[in-house]
Amino acid sequence: MLRVSLSKALRPAPFSRAVTSALARRPFASAPEEHDVVVIGGGPGGYVAAIKAAQLGLKAACVEKRGSLGGTCLNVGCIPSKALLHNSHLYHVAKHEFAGRGIDVPSVSINLPKLMENKASVVKGLTGGIEMLFKKNKVTYAKGHGKIVSPTEIVVEAADGTTQTLKTKHIIIATGSEPSSFPNIPIDEQKIVTSTGALSLPEVPGKMIVIGAGVIGLELGSVWSRLGSEVSVVEYQGAIGAGMDGQMAKEFHKMLKKQGLNFELNTKVLGTELVGDKVHVKVEDSKGGNQRTLEADTVLVAIGRKPYTDNLGLENIGLTTDNRGRIQVDSHLRTAVANVWAIGDVIVGPMLAHKAEEEGIAAVENIINGAGHVNYDAIPSVIYTHPEVAWVGLTEEQVKEKGIEYNVGSFPFIANSRAKTNGDFQGLVKIISDKNSDRMLGAHIIGPNAGEMISEATLAIEYGASSEDVARTCHAHPTLSEAFKEACMAAYGNKKPIHM
Ligand SMILES: Cc1cc2nc3c(=O)[nH]c(=O)nc-3n(C[C@H](O)[C@H](O)[C@H](O)COP(=O)(O)OP(=O)(O)OC[C@H]3O[C@@H](n4cnc5c(N)ncnc54)[C@H](O)[C@@H]3O)c2cc1C
Repeated sequence: MLRVSLSKALRPAPFSRAVTSALARRPFASAPEEHDVVVIGGGPGGYVAAIKAAQLGLKAACVEKRGSLGGTCLNVGCIPSKALLHNSHLYHVAKHEFAGRGIDVPSVSINLPKLMENKASVVKGLTGGIEMLFKKNKVTYAKGHGKIVSPTEIVVEAADGTTQTLKTKHIIIATGSEPSSFPNIPIDEQKIVTSTGALSLPEVPGKMIVIGAGVIGLELGSVWSRLGSEVSVVEYQGAIGAGMDGQMAKEFHKMLKKQGLNFELNTKVLGTELVGDKVHVKVEDSKGGNQRTLEADTVLVAIGRKPYTDNLGLENIGLTTDNRGRIQVDSHLRTAVANVWAIGDVIVGPMLAHKAEEEGIAAVENIINGAGHVNYDAIPSVIYTHPEVAWVGLTEEQVKEKGIEYNVGSFPFIANSRAKTNGDFQGLVKIISDKNSDRMLGAHIIGPNAGEMISEATLAIEYGASSEDVARTCHAHPTLSEAFKEACMAAYGNKKPIHM
């Protein structure tokens, strides 16, 4: 319902009047040269907020110190990792599957510099594209480090040391996050790397240890494993894929093991030591005891990310961060200072680009008319391995914990005609629905293209669909998404899919 009224409120003609009056009511009323909004940080949260603000008639600027737009996501995150995942998968398929599919190629080998060049050109194209969008939408791009000096002023220091002051009615903080590290494991981005270093290794390591079996560790571990590394993943917890549905995590774990990744679960890392050109990683069981040393050529520390607020000037406006470094906001993304807002990785919630984008748009709408909205129950997660893993909504463990009576319907890709035709049929779809209302509560997919398919589930959850609603919706044949429909068939009524 909210969405309907919001979209009406944002229609262009009445909107420009609404903007003017809404802003006139706010403190720090405008001098013409002032900006309405200055966004600090040009990642997916920040650049989307700046563009949306401009599209809705506000005078917007975006401050970014990196030298290119797109933030972690485009420069050292989602995009370069997906370029490497995609191309390493093609290599793997060419090397291991082409012959069986009737495609003979004389020999397949990896050209790492070229692979990296391809990745860099994708990043350059996309980051440059955002700069063009800024021009098109008349967003001021202020290059340099932004420091808040008062609730209405930001000093931007460029790389050459020159400074300018931007005056603004509203500030949106979108400064993102940086990799977390262990105090006793020194990162050199050569032998002991974060995700940033792991995206640009100059050669394929003989042995790689990945610390952390979360999304980033599993994705980058898969890349280097496909390219020829012997990869071992060390994880403190007893399961991989932090936050996944338990049953799906077990299935995924089995698949990755079959692909050649080694796992040391329930294992705690104590420290590292450089010995010659090797890295020794000292570990013990999570519960203590059984100390041992693992050896690798490269160690990837992928234990999560922490909010980034260095030298941002929060103290100048009386803002503090919580015990995890996050800026606190209310349900409207407003900080304790009335005209200062915060979005994306720097606040609470999953550190995902699409979550940051949604918040960017919502923050701008909140500035304008208070009607911005993010549905945190319908934010999908994807692991871009092969097969992909994707989920949205509640896991079976969460449903149980909440005491909700539920149904589960699942359908394996091995029974889906398109997956069989493609010779790519690992995985399954699992739907969790409310036993009484049949409303879809969670959807979990392991399989080819799961990351695309999860959008259908997200839409279903966003609109409160039942599994029967989806099961009665015609899906094109032969498609992978028929597996989604059949899992929904398995979740309601007589609980019988057709093809199983
Ligand atoms: C390897 C990897 C893979 C990932 N893959 C995915 C994925 O597939 N899907 C997904 O959804 N998410 C993925 N993520 C997470 C995603 O990148 C982040 O959630 C997302 O980028 C957060 O967006 P943001 O706008 O909040 O911050 P960021 O993207 O971190 O952008 C913040 C920007 O602010 C700038 N900045 C900081 N302080 C200042 C300052 N004072 N002045 C000026 N500029 C400043 C920084 O330079 C940075 O460019 C991945 C992350 C990594 C590391």
